[in-house]
Amino acid sequence: MDKKLLDRLIGQVEKPVRYMGNEYNMVIKDPNRVDIRFAFAFPDVYEVGMSHMGMKILYHMINDREDAYCERVFAPWPDMEQKMRENNIPMFALETKDPIKDFDIIGFTLQYELSYTNVLNILDLAQIPLTWQERSNDHPLIIAGGPCAYNVEPMADFFDLVVMGEGEEVTHELLDLYLDCKKQGLDRLEFLYRAANIEGVYVPRFYTVEYKEDGTISKIEPINERVPKTIRKRIIKDLDKVYYPETMVVPYMNIVHDRVMLEVFRGCTRGCRFCQAGMIYRPVRERTPKKLLELAERLIKNTGYEEISLSSLSTGDYSQLEKLVRELMARFKDKKVGLSLPSLRLDSFEKELADQVQEVRKTGLTFAPEAGSQRLRDVINKGITEDDLMGSVEDAFKSGWTTVKLYFMMGLPEETEEDLKGIGELARKIKDCYFNTVKEKGKKALRINISTSSFVPKPFTPFQWVAQNSMEELDRKQNFLQKELRIKNVQYSWSDSRASFLEAVFARGDRRLGKVIKKAWQKGCTFDGWAELFKFDTWMEAFEEEGIDPHFYANRQREINEVFPWDHIDVGVTKKYLWREYQKALKMELTEDCRLNCTGCGVSLLGEGICP
Ligand code: SF4
Repeated sequence: MDKKLLDRLIGQVEKPVRYMGNEYNMVIKDPNRVDIRFAFAFPDVYEVGMSHMGMKILYHMINDREDAYCERVFAPWPDMEQKMRENNIPMFALETKDPIKDFDIIGFTLQYELSYTNVLNILDLAQIPLTWQERSNDHPLIIAGGPCAYNVEPMADFFDLVVMGEGEEVTHELLDLYLDCKKQGLDRLEFLYRAANIEGVYVPRFYTVEYKEDGTISKIEPINERVPKTIRKRIIKDLDKVYYPETMVVPYMNIVHDRVMLEVFRGCTRGCRFCQAGMIYRPVRERTPKKLLELAERLIKNTGYEEISLSSLSTGDYSQLEKLVRELMARFKDKKVGLSLPSLRLDSFEKELADQVQEVRKTGLTFAPEAGSQRLRDVINKGITEDDLMGSVEDAFKSGWTTVKLYFMMGLPEETEEDLKGIGELARKIKDCYFNTVKEKGKKALRINISTSSFVPKPFTPFQWVAQNSMEELDRKQNFLQKELRIKNVQYSWSDSRASFLEAVFARGDRRLGKVIKKAWQKGCTFDGWAELFKFDTWMEAFEEEGIDPHFYANRQREINEVFPWDHIDVGVTKKYLWREYQKALKMELTEDCRLNCTGCGVSLLGEGICP
């Protein structure tokens, strides 16, 4: 590849830093002295991908092996893509600028459904055939992981194998097996058969899917006895013992989360019924404060960052949060290192704690009541009350905060107009609370930002059976809320119902959708998660041309016994438990936090002593 030409082209596009590499802490190795070249591909732009925790972990973990070199790949923005295509520059890795078609393995992380066309675009730019059927032993192995991998069926044609669950251990096992097969001269098929027997590895080509006349699935079966009937997710038992990087690449440009990220725990025990992460990442496993302090010390030293973010699904639930925050503050006080807690839950918000951390103060308080009425919050098992919210908000106003952000979902199962009105009522109560609490100064500064996203039913949740509201229904609800929220000091923003619709199609999609994704990409769809590049009408043409009805996937209520495209994947939480939770939702019955009492979701069967 003409690297001088590439350098020149990089200089001609918007945000060249996206393609330059050479950041502080970037790993440099001699590619000729390793046995495996691995490209970690994030199918979105650099600044989004560089904030991703999984990439930070796996990049440094693979590079700690002497026999492997892991480099990074991000989706080029259309201006760069055009230059690459015009000049026949193949997709390259950031570290060496070498074409990734010469690598051994390309590993994609699938964080959201609307990045699927970018996967195809990266493969095409790399000059690699899109489907496994078209690829030979000489092409790189194309693999994937991440939350969407749990139902990867719409992308089944494009990947050789998929990793289910946490990647730290299984990645090493896969790389070892890959080397072993390479040394023995075994071909790809044999490697895949052996890989399919590693726990957490799914090879889509080894499973067949049969359909009924009504379009639903009749059965999913392995093609022979060399592969297991179900694929069980991988799970790390002890987070203190598992690899965590002691350094991180420090970008030259602003990225979404530009700070040291300390992952305090995995999993969540709350059991919100809409939340896929809360189900697939079970059980809760915490790092100890001792381990976290050690990691923080090394990461601050090695990166020069002046801010630490405590990350997890619900950081306020960390059992030793107060101790950890106090010790981190004490340790880094003199170094002027700040602390941020990005995912506070409403009921775990403690004023004293929040007073100590800087991010909350900078950006305003964020709460996620999710639904506007107690009735609907009980349906979704969001175990918080209006009193919790108002108490926290009042405390915040007393402490000087003037901006409050509130997140809601619309289109939730069992939602009525009353629930939507409840959002407006809540906004008015918060406003009244502010003016009752703050008597004199600062009155003008109050901002209440309300945003709604459209509910997307996800696999492995109690709502995996429900129909998504139609786009027309979602638009009607948005219009209704726009009127309800015409209140001084209140700003309302909402998500595009068409993007949520597509997300719902692919989240619960099956293998038949692969040809639609390919068609949409051929017709020019990429970066579907970016409003300015989203081409909804083109997507609808692709469905039409492939003879597939997207509403079958998004807007159809499923029967109790329907075979789902992901039924051969075992995430620990059982289908029986999810159905039980769905029935409880319809009766507005709550399920308590399983830290207090095990509610029998099935995850404990993944291993002895796995649940706290
Ligand atoms: S098995 Fe019980 S304790 Fe473990 S995650 Fe499930 S409900 Fe919670």
